Formats: sequence, structure tokens, C-alpha cells
Amino acid sequence: MTAANTAAGEPLRLANSYSTLPETFYARIAPTPVASPSLIRINRALAEQLGLDADALSSPAGIEMLAGNRVPEGAEPLAMAYAGHQFGQFVPSLGDGRAVLLGEISGPDGLRRDIHLKGAGRTPFSRSGDGRAALGPVLREYVLGEAMAGLGIPTTRALAMVATGEPVYRERIEPGAVLTRVAASHVRVGTFEYFARRGQRDSVRALADYVIARHYADCAQADNPYRALLQAVVERQAALIGQWLLVGFIHGVMNTDNMAVSGETIDYGPCAFMDTYHPQTVYSSIDRGGRYGYDQQPRIGFWNLTQLANCLLPLLDDDMETAKQQAHAALDAYGPSFEQTYLGGLRAKIGLAQMHEGDDDLVLDLLTKMAEQEADFTNTFRGLSNTAADDPAGDAAVRALFSDPHAFDPWAERWRARLSLETRPDAQRSAAMRAVNPAYIPRNHRVQQAIDAAMDDMDLTPLDELLQVVSRPFDDHDALAEYRRPPQPQEVVHRTFCGT
Ligand code: AMP
Ligand code: MG
Repeated sequence: MTAANTAAGEPLRLANSYSTLPETFYARIAPTPVASPSLIRINRALAEQLGLDADALSSPAGIEMLAGNRVPEGAEPLAMAYAGHQFGQFVPSLGDGRAVLLGEISGPDGLRRDIHLKGAGRTPFSRSGDGRAALGPVLREYVLGEAMAGLGIPTTRALAMVATGEPVYRERIEPGAVLTRVAASHVRVGTFEYFARRGQRDSVRALADYVIARHYADCAQADNPYRALLQAVVERQAALIGQWLLVGFIHGVMNTDNMAVSGETIDYGPCAFMDTYHPQTVYSSIDRGGRYGYDQQPRIGFWNLTQLANCLLPLLDDDMETAKQQAHAALDAYGPSFEQTYLGGLRAKIGLAQMHEGDDDLVLDLLTKMAEQEADFTNTFRGLSNTAADDPAGDAAVRALFSDPHAFDPWAERWRARLSLETRPDAQRSAAMRAVNPAYIPRNHRVQQAIDAAMDDMDLTPLDELLQVVSRPFDDHDALAEYRRPPQPQEVVHRTFCGT
């Protein structure tokens, strides 16, 4: 079989639009070959969606490419330049220190996507780093990206994982791996900051034009395309963060270099899905002040977008005061977009199709109760989906999630009173709730078990099972129902690590 992006004899046929941008945007560099590459997993579903031939990619020639040992014909590999605010501190030069953009492919859907090798060796942006990735974080990124995609939330995804046959030196010696990352693009808020802070207005403009052409074509027709671009990025990012909150996701390192202007989730480091609901949950071991905790994400997203707005000011208007007004007006779209996604999503999570006064309070009161009562976030909403409007007897499973099951009852009574105002049949309400309330998230202890089994015993069964449930998280998968279970006290993962 020869798929669209697979030329005869060539597992990947790439275009290179980023490399037509000025030379200051990147460093041309090929991946550094590795000792003995072997395929860990190829993402067949994604390959198919992208018009790639998974068999060709899994062939010896394909694996050589996924490991960075052979550059596909016609590719112009490069490491992208970017800057970023890390925990609020500006770092003028970050860039791809351990990744190489091989090029781009156009999917059958007509969208252009980056093919990027993470862990591909040193680049001019590596600073003191070794340019490599350890297997543990690579497995983690693969699983979390698939889970996010399964939940229908915009995300980068992994096309493949290859073991390098070389050790990497972290807190302990770990096997090295290369992740093939597929993204709408790798342009970050920090990419704009790189040029803006150097006063390179023409480069900021060239980058903005590139982003409009690639992601926001409609903005080109606007009276002020850059103002339209800023607002569009603001709206997509607000919606993205709203969607994260609705599934209990905590990114963990929302530095401006880890925020893609395409609106996709990117850079899965010490991220986590929470088990027990608490708005102030923080997992990341490097996030000591809780800057990127669960409930801080909407605020920090806005802060990051303000940095983007600063970069775009010179493009918004020649008069600085007018430019600032334009920026403020675009940023003003953030709150409404976020609320529409988040509050609208919460109402859907409790089965409300109509809007009545007091609905937001009803659902926010549930969250307050869940936090007080240490209820499991995912299972509470999934459990509610499975209860009947006219039969509180079915509530046992949900009640049991609250430390004091009686604490759930007054809320349930209010909820049922409210449901009685809905006009759609109860079975329909229940099905609609199951379509927005996942049964499965990649629970931290399961992710850890899958990584441990792969690293310690070369056993990929837990990984494959986990991938099976999280890639279709709204299905019941009764045979694997164990993956719905929250961690036992001794299984709870309290801290997650970057592992870079
Ligand atoms: P991250 O923590 O993955 O968002 O990366 C932050 C910055 O550190 C980026 O510029 C990365 O390219 C760089 N970096 C992270 N790990 C390494 C590594 N092992 N070698 C070189 N650069 C790295
Ligand atoms: Mg990063």
C-alpha cells in the first residue's frame, strides 16, 4: 500500500514551509544518528489519519528515519528558535535544544502538520543539555497525547516511539528514546517573544503572516489582520484551557514557550489528570509556588496571551495608544470564550441542555462539595451520567465517592428538581452525559505502572491496555474496567517530574 504522504521507497515525503522563513528563525541541523534504533510503538490510527503508511514507517528504512539516522529525501531539517517566560522570568533564547523539525506533511483533511523528532540530539540551542530524551517521559508524552486526542481536545500527538539503544544520564541512567511528534505547528508564544524582544519587527510580522496563512486564514480578510489574529489565538487558547479544566487536566509547565499559537496542547512534561477533585491541586515537582496549579490555569493562560499581545503591538497600529487599545480589545475576548467553554461544559457534564437561572450555581456547588468531600473528579461525573432522573436508588455508586455519602444527597435533590425542567427524555440526557464525561483518564498511577513495566520488565502490556481505554475514553470497555478505579492510598502519585 502506498499512502498519500509516502512516496515509493520513501516512508515520509515532506514539505518545508518553515525553512522558507528567514535564516534567523532556526538553525539548519540534521538529527544526530543513534547506535541501534528499534521501534517501540507506531501509532497506526494516527498514521492512517495522516495518510501515512504505517508498514513503511515500521520497516527498517522507516525506523532509521524515526530515529533520526536517515533524513528523508527532500527534507530540510531544522531546530526552531524561540524564547519564553519560564515561571515568569524571561529567557531570551531557548529554542529546540533536543528536537528537530523534519518537515511538514499535508493530511487527507488538507491540513499541514509538522513532523518533529524529540530527543534527536544536540542543536545550537542545546545549552548544557544532551539533546536526548529518556524513555520514561517519551512513554508519558505518547500516552497523554493519545488520551487528550481521545477526549476530543486539541493536542499534539505522537506518531512513533523508537528506542535509541543508547543510555541517557538523568537522576539515574535511563534508556534513550526518540518521539515523533505531530503538531499543527510548533510556533509558540515564545517564538514571537524571541523576535519581539530583539526589536526585530519585520521578523515578528513575517511570523504573524506565516501563522495567519497556516492556522488562521480567515484573519487575512479582516480590516486589521494582526488584531484578528491576536483575538483568534486568544479565543482558541481560552477554549483549550476551559476544556482542560473540564477533564481535570493540569499542564504543569505553562511557560510561554510551552503554549502553541495553534491552540493545541503541547509539551507534556510534569502534567497530570487529577483523581480527587481539589481546585488547588499541583503535581509538578518544579512548581513550588503552585503557579501552574489546576485553578491557576485560566489566569496564567491570560498572562501568557498578554505577552503575545505585547509582541504584536507594533503590528496592531503605528500609534502606540491605538495599538494598546486594539490589544486590550482582543484580550477582552478571553473571559467570554473561557466561560462559554467552561461553564457551558460544566452544565453539559450535569446533563443540562437548557439554560435556567441558577444553573451555574448548581454545578459550582457540586464542585465545592466534591472538593470538601474528596470525591473523584472523573468518576463523580461519569457516575451521575449513569443515574436515572426518577430513581435516586441508583445513586449509591456516586454517593460512595464522597467521604460522607450523606453530603451528596441535598445536592442530588436540587439536581433532580432541575432535571425535571428539561424536556429531553432521560435516556437521551444520560447518553449525552456519557459522551462528555469520560469513564477513563490516564490516571497517574496507571501511567506510572505502564512506564515501570516497560522500563523494568520490557513489558508493554499495561501500556497497550492503558492506550486502549484512554483512546476511546467514553466507551465502557468492561473488560478493562479496572482502569477506572482511583488509586489506593499507597498508589497515589503525589509528584510528577519533567524528566528532561
Ligand atoms: P521543556 O522543559 O521541554 O519545555 O524545555 C525547555 C527548554 O530546554 C527548551 O529550549 C528545550 O529544548 C531545552 N531542553 C530540555 N531538555 C533538553 C535536553 N535534554 N537537551 C537540550 N536541551 C533541552
Ligand atoms: Mg517546552
